[in-house]
Amino acid sequence: AQLDTLDIVVLAALLLGTIAYFTKGTYWAVAKDPYAGSLANGAAAKAGKTRDILEKMDESGKNCVIFYGSQTGTAEDYASRLAKEGSSRFGLKTMTADLEEYDFENLDSFPEDKVAMFVLATYGEGEPTDNAVEFYEFISSEDVSFTQGGGVSEKPLANLKYVAFGLGNNTYEHYNSMVRNVTKFLDRLGANRIGTAGEGDDGAGTMEEDFLAWKEPMWKHLAESMQLQEREAVYEPVLEVTEKPDMDAESDDVYLGEPNKNHLEGKQKGPFNAHNPYIAPIAESKELFTVKNRNCLHMEIDISGSNLSYTTGDHIAIWPTNAGKEVDRFMNILGLSEKRHMVISVKGLDATAKIPFPSPTTYDAVVRYHMEICAPVSRQFVSALAPFSPDDSIKAEMTKMGSDRDYFHDQVAARNYNLAQLLEFLSQGKTWDNVPFTIFVEGLHKIQPRYYSISSSSLVQKNKISITAIVESVEVPGASHVLKGVTTNYLLALKQKQHGDPNPDPHGLDYAITGPRNKYDGIHVPVHVRHSNFKLPSDPSKPIIMVGPGTGVAPFRGFIQERAKQARDGETVGKTMLFFGCRKKAEDFIYADEWEAYKNDMGENFEMLTAFSREGAQKVYVQHLLKQRAAEIDRLLQQKAYFYVCGDAANMAREVNTVLGQIIAEQRGISESKAEDIVKAMRNSNAYQEDVW
Ligand code: FAD
Repeated sequence: AQLDTLDIVVLAALLLGTIAYFTKGTYWAVAKDPYAGSLANGAAAKAGKTRDILEKMDESGKNCVIFYGSQTGTAEDYASRLAKEGSSRFGLKTMTADLEEYDFENLDSFPEDKVAMFVLATYGEGEPTDNAVEFYEFISSEDVSFTQGGGVSEKPLANLKYVAFGLGNNTYEHYNSMVRNVTKFLDRLGANRIGTAGEGDDGAGTMEEDFLAWKEPMWKHLAESMQLQEREAVYEPVLEVTEKPDMDAESDDVYLGEPNKNHLEGKQKGPFNAHNPYIAPIAESKELFTVKNRNCLHMEIDISGSNLSYTTGDHIAIWPTNAGKEVDRFMNILGLSEKRHMVISVKGLDATAKIPFPSPTTYDAVVRYHMEICAPVSRQFVSALAPFSPDDSIKAEMTKMGSDRDYFHDQVAARNYNLAQLLEFLSQGKTWDNVPFTIFVEGLHKIQPRYYSISSSSLVQKNKISITAIVESVEVPGASHVLKGVTTNYLLALKQKQHGDPNPDPHGLDYAITGPRNKYDGIHVPVHVRHSNFKLPSDPSKPIIMVGPGTGVAPFRGFIQERAKQARDGETVGKTMLFFGCRKKAEDFIYADEWEAYKNDMGENFEMLTAFSREGAQKVYVQHLLKQRAAEIDRLLQQKAYFYVCGDAANMAREVNTVLGQIIAEQRGISESKAEDIVKAMRNSNAYQEDVW
């Protein structure tokens, strides 16, 4: 009999398994390279990795694992900082671990003399980050069961020592729910928490200080519990950067910013995702504002032929490139300008070290494409750099900044310095050429793709994704420079280039528009799509109410495009109300003429209400308009309308939530607390959805 495909697959898997067993994974080193093309296939890349954390720790001689649940990289960054500090200050043998890469059934055999740390970000409406979903499902399950350890125990995790820190945002209703819930579950299972579970608040802008304030007492408790001796912390690299003067940066195997092997070889291959972007053509771009000093971009990104798909309400991620001006500044201050195109290779000094980008590469490529060099500086990082200062007085200043929270705030944070700007400011002409490059690779964030709410409907344009992005340009009184958002200014430069503007960068930012080896030439940008739960009701006849001031209107343009098309196709479309706000009708009322066209398609069923905050004597915002239409809103809610809010999380979304409660209370003659419960119930049943940032 012939073997069918399944048999062959099974046999091949068995054979590979056997090889893996006998070679103890030696031959899997290639597959471990997270940038090997196979990463795109997920499972294949992971084939050689153990998912057994205890085995991994044993094998690599670790006694402390820091698990992270991270969406934008901050939790991952905090995890590696804990790892470094645990090792340099307390001699712990630390490793970080992506929650997604391990199984947790054997946590009940976690040895008593080791410790697990959990650094957990909460995402959106109290959800786990993508990489923590499986762990969360496991640990929160009513009948969670562990494989090892034997027997049924009330306290299966009695041996597990752990510490926990959460990253959240108090403007969201489910503030830090991940760390709160996970500690609740771990405690219920008998695990031993060391110290209190920390909570960082991005909403209040105190994440970094919350983290610093939490970790000191935590280390103290941990040191007592594990009898650790504190010692003077010295920098211990976990990576090694080797210069390769004999190699030519132009040779085919050197990564000049390509995110992985397929891209290096010039044949990008799907599936495209958070590890593997699609280099997409920008089909069209235009300016939406009519004022000189503010920009809002509309772009059409072509995904045809990529196998990427989206549905209305999803997000697209844009992979940015740092501005040339900032890359140069970074190179200059570190004394790297002369050898920016030197080929370097980056290696982990132990098997658990994570290398954040593929190598061999060059200094220039690392700084331009892989490191978040423009972000605010962390106080802890200033302390870490202090010993490498160009002279003793600078060192003293750095040490003071690192240890004095208020001083740091005045000198660094309030001035919006990025790292190179700070070093420039302090050094007054001296270069920082004593700093090991590894400290930046280990200590700075890996550059993060930024998300945009897709502003088109997949029903109308399946292969073209629209985005609506306001260009970040922040002038702070007293600061020496204009703060330029990394991604949006890159997009602005792409747009200017597409329109043949002779001066593509208004602030001389000077982007490498054509990308590594000109692979982005012809106006391309690396992207991937992230699916969201922000969705229209499946029945188009249901009424919807949308609140989206500013660029918060982005996904609603998609929603309305979709309903307009459904109306044109003869479907019954329910009442569609849009509350929009901006400063002035003549300046930033985006898509003004499109809304008219949608009205022609939907007639009375589409209604747009606008608030212009800088036109009348009194500032009018969307919240005021909602109140004016209280009766109608309540009537629509009684007809099971869906209510959507998009845009500013810090103020607007919260106020809209409150106002809706007030409207319900007033209209139905019930107490405000009862009305709040109704709003909560709407959230729970997805009748109230938010897409806020
Ligand atoms: P960044 O470089 O990331 O800077 C952003 C801000 O960080 C600055 O304005 C400043 O406040 C602060 N900052 C940066 N560097 C420093 C420093 N050195 N010192 C002090 N502060 C600093 N935006 C849209 O315009 N349209 C959308 O439709 C949209 N949808 C989104 C959907 C989701 C789900 C999310 C999460 C975000 C969305 N955003 C949207 C926001 C978008 O992702 C970006 O955050 C935004 O465009 C800014 O990106 P940037 O790289 O230009 O700025």
